[in-house]
Amino acid sequence: MGFFSWDCAECGESIRNLHTREHQGIVWVKPDRVHRGPYEGYGMVDGHDAHAWAGPVKMLHPACYSQQAYLDLEESPNAYDQGFF
Ligand SMILES: [Zn+2]
Repeated sequence: MGFFSWDCAECGESIRNLHTREHQGIVWVKPDRVHRGPYEGYGMVDGHDAHAWAGPVKMLHPACYSQQAYLDLEESPNAYDQGFF
């Protein structure tokens, strides 16, 4: 399986994975908690699998996260560049 990623729910730019020079980390906002971490490129954030998670995924760049609540954010589209290319 290849890399995949999402566009940031705030700025709309791709969230780049840690195999790129543009990696900034990732923030995954869920209804009841927030996961932060580096993004390894295969859906895992802070030990949790976003690819397997059932709800709409809402991802942000750390710099774009300012305590927005889950309901304040739009769903993150799949990134056209897969977070890498
Ligand atoms: Zn952003």
